[in-house]
Amino acid sequence: MLIEHTSLARTASAILEGAGAPRAHADAVAHHLVEANLKGHDSHGVGMIPSYVKGMVDKQVDPNRHAKIIKDNNAIVSVDGGTGLGRIVGFEAMDIGIERTKNFGIGCVALGNAAHLGRIGAFAEYCADQGLVSMHYVNVVGHDPMVVAFGGRDRRFITNPYCCAVPRPNGEHVVLDMATTTVAAGKVRVAHMKGTAVPSQSLVDENGLETTDPGVIFGSNPTGAMQPFGGHKGYGLMVICELLGGALGGVFTMQPEHPRRGATLNNMLSIMIDPEAVGDLASFDQEVGAMMDYIYASTPAEGVDHVRLPGDPEKESAATRMANGIEIDPNSWNSVLNSAEHAGLDRDSIAALAHLLDD
Ligand code: NAD
Repeated sequence: MLIEHTSLARTASAILEGAGAPRAHADAVAHHLVEANLKGHDSHGVGMIPSYVKGMVDKQVDPNRHAKIIKDNNAIVSVDGGTGLGRIVGFEAMDIGIERTKNFGIGCVALGNAAHLGRIGAFAEYCADQGLVSMHYVNVVGHDPMVVAFGGRDRRFITNPYCCAVPRPNGEHVVLDMATTTVAAGKVRVAHMKGTAVPSQSLVDENGLETTDPGVIFGSNPTGAMQPFGGHKGYGLMVICELLGGALGGVFTMQPEHPRRGATLNNMLSIMIDPEAVGDLASFDQEVGAMMDYIYASTPAEGVDHVRLPGDPEKESAATRMANGIEIDPNSWNSVLNSAEHAGLDRDSIAALAHLLDD
């Protein structure tokens, strides 16, 4: 099904509000999810609504919560997310960090115990829009692990994303935003919903052997696990996200003393730098631009149309999907509508809010 993006956001917001989020929070979270769809990350788009609704209905996520400063060391601030909606407490934490970075040249915000933050790139882009470089180390907790340690067979992590953005004055920021697994868990879920295979080196079966079947994670009897990307190096970055995001920035890591009640929670350590405080802003911009041009001028490999920078696929996807609509597979859409019923809403009235472009 092809759905027009503003109507998809209206639909998403109505469901989230029905599940208990205040209207302003529901609108902001709906925009965050639809933006992920627009940018090509369906794993972090409206397909997350069923788990957000479940989190609110089960009272594991508090949709009214705001970020609260719990330790203030000027340039370094610790913030309790209080299981508030990730988009809400996450942007509030970014606002605190941006303000400190404008004062001190550098800022660090440790956000703990936020409900699912969604696409981390949104937080980095928000900092980049203020002219700041930012790095975000995130761990994922709250439910059972899904990812093996390098060389291991049993599960120890979830998908720990890392993100870094370099601002450009024209808004065309360079944004590296990635899970430290070969694919994001939501992409395995989407593949399972669509009945398709996942890329190689993404999953292992119960014997630790390579498989492309998403059923080993999302089937009725999940016995497999996900793999960190890039062998020992990607695994190393996953460990650093766990320790900086969870132990330094947040309140807990995946080690088994901590509760796993089912709702996905994130801890995020964000470090922001004002380029103007480091050196000459004009020469920084000039050098970044010149390097980008040099990279873009690469001769493409056979079968590649042109070389891209991190963040480019998202910009291309957003342009296409804004013009043509967002493709949602029928299984995922059915789950979204089921979640509307779970929130006590009338399924048909909610479905009618979405403007289908391929009717
Ligand atoms: P991905 O593999 O699609 O992209 C990763 C990065 O590679 C992006 O910065 C992208 O711009 C870049 N990239 C992709 N193709 C490229 C190319 N041809 N040339 C140059 N650069 C290219 O992303 P992913 O790892 O599947 O992550 C998807 C999303 O999941 C991210 O937004 C991430 O923040 C989110 N995530 C969130 C959580 C959470 O708990 N909140 C957990 C894991 C992932």
